[in-house]
Amino acid sequence: MSVKYQDYYQILGVNRNATEKEIKAAYRKLARKHHPDLFADQEKKEAEEKFKQINEAYEVLSNPEKRAKYDHLGANWQAGQDFQPPPDMEGVRFYTTDGINFESGFSDFFESLFRGDAPFRPTATTRRYGRIIPGQDVTSEINLTLEEAYRGSQKSLQVSSQEICSVCGGTGSTGRGFCSRCGGTGTIPNVKNLEVKIPRGTLEGSRIRLRGQGGEGSGGGARGDLYLKIHLLPHPVFKVLGSDVETEVVLFPEQAVLGSKVTVPTLDGEVIMKVPPETRAGTRLRLKGKGLPRKKEGRGDEYVRLVIDLPKHLVEEEIKLYRQLAEIRKNLS
Ligand SMILES: [Zn+2]
Repeated sequence: MSVKYQDYYQILGVNRNATEKEIKAAYRKLARKHHPDLFADQEKKEAEEKFKQINEAYEVLSNPEKRAKYDHLGANWQAGQDFQPPPDMEGVRFYTTDGINFESGFSDFFESLFRGDAPFRPTATTRRYGRIIPGQDVTSEINLTLEEAYRGSQKSLQVSSQEICSVCGGTGSTGRGFCSRCGGTGTIPNVKNLEVKIPRGTLEGSRIRLRGQGGEGSGGGARGDLYLKIHLLPHPVFKVLGSDVETEVVLFPEQAVLGSKVTVPTLDGEVIMKVPPETRAGTRLRLKGKGLPRKKEGRGDEYVRLVIDLPKHLVEEEIKLYRQLAEIRKNLS
């Protein structure tokens, strides 16, 4: 009875002198890509198969003792080749199951090489002191209305994160094979609710740091931070241009011709603005200091763009007067 040689380096897509870090990175990437939960039906079966291979390869290559033993076989074996252990290899036994061992989820090749070995299991000591890895910083985006950003507000939001699996301690494997709780990825998706205070004068693109709300650390490492990137939602009245805002005000023709006082919305409420006589459509008037807070100090400006329109229903007399105006203009040109 023989078993098929497994090329663990090929499975993870790394070369034979890959570092621990490279192996872990390759494993995580592949385990996410081929996670069976992402697929259905036939594709799910294929993903499960692939997923098992990936986990088996990682189980061996991430463990220095197992990796050394595997490397000892030499580089000349081809994937799928009938495997005969070298005569000097100790503890190698053959199993007669077909392909995959159902108890462990590992291949016969794996079983024949490592069955006799002590199972890999992180001890309390290695978990606590062995590899202290701080949690990752996580960036998420939060949408705010202009008012919420300008005045400051309290927002509740849901944040999804990857927590370290409590069953396998983030290693992805238990003594018997890959961890069934996390499916070998070492992490469990988690959703939590957070209350966030948005400070007054928050700007588009700025980031709010929530200390300790990022990814979980391992081996006693501190949690990472959560950064919330501010995105302002489009506003019905104001267009945001850096720390300036722009709005539009509609004038009737006589207001534009004769000059007028108009009511203009600002971030702090309505103000009265003077429109000079003979103001043309498209003119931008500036309300100094009525914009958003500047990064360093002070505030930007509000620009009021003037649009000229007609009243909805003109009366007979108005039309008569416009005819007179038209007559005058004709004689002038
Ligand atoms: Zn686990």
